[in-house]
Amino acid sequence: MSLSGKQKKTKYIFVTGGVTSSLGKGIIASSLAKLLQARGLSVTIQKLDPYLNVDPGTLNPYEHGECYVTDDGAETDLDLGHYERFLNVQTSQANNVTTGRIYYNVLSKERRGDFLGKTVQVIPHITDEIKRNILLLGKTGKYDIVITEIGGCVGDIESLPFLEAVRQLKWELGEKNMLTIHLTLVPFLKSAEELKTKPTQHSVKQLQESGIQPDILVCRTEHHLPADIRKKIALFCNVEVMSVIEAMDAKTIYEVPILMKKEKLDQRVLYMLDLYNDADSDMRKWEEFLQRLKKPEHEVTIGLIGKYVELKDAYKSIIESFIHAGAENRCKVKIEWIHSESLAVDNIEEKFSGLDGVLVAPGFGERGIEGKIAAVKFVRENNIPFLGICLGMQMAVIEYARNVLGWEGAHSTEMEKTTEYPVIDLMEDQQNVENKGGTMRLGAYNCKLTDKSLARKIYGKSKISERHRHRWEFNNKYRKDFEDKGLVIGGTNPENDLVEIIEIPANDFFIGVQYHPELKSTVVQPHPLFIAFVKAALDYSNKKNGKV
Ligand code: GLN
Repeated sequence: MSLSGKQKKTKYIFVTGGVTSSLGKGIIASSLAKLLQARGLSVTIQKLDPYLNVDPGTLNPYEHGECYVTDDGAETDLDLGHYERFLNVQTSQANNVTTGRIYYNVLSKERRGDFLGKTVQVIPHITDEIKRNILLLGKTGKYDIVITEIGGCVGDIESLPFLEAVRQLKWELGEKNMLTIHLTLVPFLKSAEELKTKPTQHSVKQLQESGIQPDILVCRTEHHLPADIRKKIALFCNVEVMSVIEAMDAKTIYEVPILMKKEKLDQRVLYMLDLYNDADSDMRKWEEFLQRLKKPEHEVTIGLIGKYVELKDAYKSIIESFIHAGAENRCKVKIEWIHSESLAVDNIEEKFSGLDGVLVAPGFGERGIEGKIAAVKFVRENNIPFLGICLGMQMAVIEYARNVLGWEGAHSTEMEKTTEYPVIDLMEDQQNVENKGGTMRLGAYNCKLTDKSLARKIYGKSKISERHRHRWEFNNKYRKDFEDKGLVIGGTNPENDLVEIIEIPANDFFIGVQYHPELKSTVVQPHPLFIAFVKAALDYSNKKNGKV
């Protein structure tokens, strides 16, 4: 029931959060979007982040987790990864806006003299810029519904201008054209054996102080919300009982759309936006995926070697890619987190003894580098399935140079500027880059796969496009030396000949990619590289256990 044609006007849904952070606004927004999409509506999701960085590209992963990169090269919040994984629809720079970007735009206009001598103020100038960014996606004419998630918690000083913009939009867009969903927590007090509604009441009051009356409350809870609790929340928070939606803790985030469907969140939204009809959401494919996920027939353990392993969010897309590819293989993928700094030549054998595959993760800087190189050496020599992503691929090249080509000091100039063998080096267009923000090789680039390569077999086609986020590259000066010693270049960029994929055909599964396949894996389209890697790990495990 796409609205295009029938009704051109895009409708807007805002998702705010209260009581505490980490309640999962991104997952609720993605789940609702999925249900609406499964009814034939075209939906996109946008994230407004209250911090002052212009984008998360310059943030340490320990701060906010992984930086997600879109096809158009935007460095964005990791929630955009959830949006794409749930919806299988691409996002772009317009889908993630920070306070920093808003101020940057306004201040650039001020410097140009665009405000013609006016005093530039939070209201109306900052709020106007926020509204312009919210309405931008709707103006493309591509979407029936735009869901905007507002980062942070109600009550934070930083998010006030965003809430003010939402308040103003209510009057500009009009009733039935927008609504606000507020996500709160209903805690269970063990000592009293009771669910408590007070935090939700306070959180809604705080939102009301900003002039926003939420239309729907989604309540995170560990226990089912009985009718009397729902009624109480409705009464005190000024919403209808049907607008109190229970969001039980789920075993996997992929169950949440089904839980929201049971709670009729999508129906309620459509009713309030005047879009309701009897059609139902078609979630069959999603359910099939869930079944495969919940009932695996096999299990493998993959070692993930990285330097941010204390914060799993730093590798969010990789974890989710394993979930998608695992379900596809009907195989539970257990991840063993291994800190690259903890690895040394004398403990690797023991640490890797239970692994069926090893992934060396992306990363920046020198810390933990020798551990990563030692890991590659061990898996290469022991024919353990290997996938190296970005820095992981670069480490595989260095390891090969040192131990197969015999170039002892081979390195990347990122870690050792004056290395004798700069097998990984900065390309010319990166040499004079001074600003760190937004200047890496970012976004989608084409890659031509080499005939008969493993990559060509895995992808089943010869041309692919994958997303990038790095400055350093395989140094083509040494390409022939590597090839002479058995390394295969599995794919190159057709425009500039940069190496995108390296393989060792002597091993059963050894592949390194300069790009980030994890950024393109979705529930309905698990990434072929991850599917193949999990399959290789499974084969390895079967062989190890004498099953084949
Ligand atoms: N630090 C490396 C580079 O900039 C790899 C980056 C990454 O792994 N994303 O080239």
